[in-house]
Amino acid sequence: MRKLICRCPESQQPVDLELYTDYATLARIGSNSLRFQCPHCGADHETNVGAAWLEDTLEGITTARVS
Ligand SMILES: [Zn+2]
Repeated sequence: MRKLICRCPESQQPVDLELYTDYATLARIGSNSLRFQCPHCGADHETNVGAAWLEDTLEGITTARVS
């Protein structure tokens, strides 16, 4: 299982959704919407699961994507 990550639309920073899933599940629930409280700007955001991605390594692909 991998961590599901999405991006804050305000700060463009990656947000750990604290969900663990795999690619098969992600494909199945990709059209679901998801609300979360953002650790970066403090607001509630809504996103599609399909707009999130799975963290590939423990190091995190997230830092590579925002740089
Ligand atoms: Zn935010």
